[in-house]
Amino acid sequence: MPPSHVLVLNSGSSSLKYQLLDMTRGETAADPNPDPDAAPERKATGIVEHIGEPTGPADNTEALETVADELAARGAGLDSPDLAAIAHRVVHGGTRFTRPTLITDEVVAEIENLIPLAPLHNPANLTGVRVARRLRPDLPQVAVFDTAFHSTMPQSAARYAIDRTVADEYGIRRYGFHGTSHAYVSRRTARLLGKDPSEVNVIVLHLGNGASASAVRGGVCVDTSMGLTPLEGLVMGTRSGDLDPAVIFHLTRVAGLSPDEVDILLNKRSGLLGLCGDNDMREIGRRIAEGDEAAHLAFDVYTHRLRKYVGAYCAVLGRVDAVAFTAGVGENSAAVRGAALDGLEPLGIEIDAVRNAVRGSAERLVSTDTSRVAVAVVPTDEEREIAQQAYSLVRP
Ligand code: ADP
Repeated sequence: MPPSHVLVLNSGSSSLKYQLLDMTRGETAADPNPDPDAAPERKATGIVEHIGEPTGPADNTEALETVADELAARGAGLDSPDLAAIAHRVVHGGTRFTRPTLITDEVVAEIENLIPLAPLHNPANLTGVRVARRLRPDLPQVAVFDTAFHSTMPQSAARYAIDRTVADEYGIRRYGFHGTSHAYVSRRTARLLGKDPSEVNVIVLHLGNGASASAVRGGVCVDTSMGLTPLEGLVMGTRSGDLDPAVIFHLTRVAGLSPDEVDILLNKRSGLLGLCGDNDMREIGRRIAEGDEAAHLAFDVYTHRLRKYVGAYCAVLGRVDAVAFTAGVGENSAAVRGAALDGLEPLGIEIDAVRNAVRGSAERLVSTDTSRVAVAVVPTDEEREIAQQAYSLVRP
């Protein structure tokens, strides 16, 4: 048997998430081409937290050694002959990386060059890459970029209307993030409708702690709500999303905040948290039930922004076949789904209150039978998408 396992590493600044997936799809002589979208088998999954803190491993090397030990205890250590590749989630690929990429010294250097665009994420991702390459120098290692799926956006969507020379010199444009999730969910939504991804237009709403929307035409991303950084677009757990850029000048000139202080304010102390003091939609739901006004306002600002983006992407796509909700809030909050699509019947979007209220972890439709646009709930699986993309590059 050729090696068929892919170890997916998501290396952050204080945590290391991993999943080991078996990509064999039960190919047999009789059926050499089984469903290309069939789910791989999850062999192991885990997270090492508190890296660099007193309670956790000292650094990323020690964290990955912990992962290696945990995998070895399951009989699938880093030295396993079944391992076909290690796949690394890398947040920012700039304009340089638009597809999964086999990691070489040059690729590492180029990801390093992109650090100014993602000063928190890319260095942490790179540390994971370096450690893994040191432990298994012989094994193919693949970088899968969060920005890649959005690289197909036309200039009209990707460009900001600022001085072109300045924009080009500093790489200022809309890149978009959560790309593996948008790619995966838009494809699964097409399958849920019994169609090929090339035939359907989907609006994907990825609503986790970070949140982003995308407009996907025939499997190709044509617009997305996050921009140069993950700050733009929807209201998020702790990020403001869209605002008048002059708010920043006002905060520096009038309120006397430094650029770093504004950065922290908008990224860490805004969004739902800034509006009501909580960033967890479950807690906000509880507070609304108790008549809490600040929580209610936060919910309204959040869902108003969502509705605005759905409307905008209906206009971008022209014909919409489905709106798909995913990630923590999108998969679990019937209240957010209902409020986000409330009043959009004239656009052909009719959510079914009863279907929407049913809890579950399966891919499902929550629109009425007469809705012109399907409304879907599709649990995201970024690790599976990353593994699939990496394996497609290295499979024997
Ligand atoms: P991350 O961006 O960290 O990957 P997730 O996709 O896991 O985030 O989403 C986390 C968020 O999902 C939580 O902050 C919470 O607001 C929301 N969430 C999780 N479960 C529920 C639920 N049952 N109802 C409403 N919101 C939920």
